Amino acid sequence: MSGVDGKVVAITGASSGIGAATAIELADRGAAVVLGARRGERLASLVERIRGTGGRAEMLEVDVTRREDLAELVGLAVDRFGRLDVLVSNAGIASLAPVADLEVDAWDAMIDVNVRGVLYGIAAAMPVFRAQERGHFVTTVSTSGLKIVPTQAVYAGTKNAVRTVLEALRQESTDGVVRTTAISPGYVRTELVDNVADPDQREAARQAMAELGIDPEAVARAVAFAIEQPEDVEIGELVIRPARQG
Ligand code: NDP
Repeated sequence: MSGVDGKVVAITGASSGIGAATAIELADRGAAVVLGARRGERLASLVERIRGTGGRAEMLEVDVTRREDLAELVGLAVDRFGRLDVLVSNAGIASLAPVADLEVDAWDAMIDVNVRGVLYGIAAAMPVFRAQERGHFVTTVSTSGLKIVPTQAVYAGTKNAVRTVLEALRQESTDGVVRTTAISPGYVRTELVDNVADPDQREAARQAMAELGIDPEAVARAVAFAIEQPEDVEIGELVIRPARQG
């Protein structure tokens, strides 16, 4: 099946930013979307908005650090829509600080959400994809894993860990059953840096996003492009940066 229309897509981190924009983009193109994040009220209003324009959407409060939550999200897609075609593992957090600041709790949190959260999604969806003999893992990584800059060491490391897993999965899936796509955004105007602990780092990141950042809809269109390809075409990685980002 090519195109987006009719596909069943589960999206983590769908309550704001890139995930929410992706949900709207894919639903507008005819996908049934199953939305997961912790902030249920945000998800509920997104579901209402999508259904209000004739789209199909379900939601579940999900914490991606809990393996069973991912299993429930995948189960919801299968229960309501009969299958799962794509899992967009998009939930992520960023903490910006020099390594020497030893923000060990923040390191743990990023590893839990950005790495374990993605692996738990793979664990939940893989049996469904194998049974269907078709499935697509789309995962939001980052240009910070391509161009390493100070203060982003652990964040970039989590994104590169996931990039590595996706590439291995691609090589292990030469039967064509499972496709993988890494979506690699540069600065995008979202809430991502709102929780950065250090006020100076937070302000610097907010300013960079405000000055340079592109809209999350630009990334959503890239996700749609990866998903709409014919089954024999796999988009390995898409990099979507502001044209003025160095
Ligand atoms: P947002 O902060 O707007 O979105 C992050 C999403 O992740 C939210 O929906 C949040 O939902 C969800 N999330 C965070 N922790 C958890 C958790 N434990 N369980 C479930 N969901 C969780 O930022 P973005 O849209 O920018 O971020 C989306 C992805 O894009 C992230 O992976 C980020 O690393 C990546 N990215 C962003 C860039 C940018 O410049 N904005 C650049 C490169 C990559 P909730 O809090 O409701 O759980």
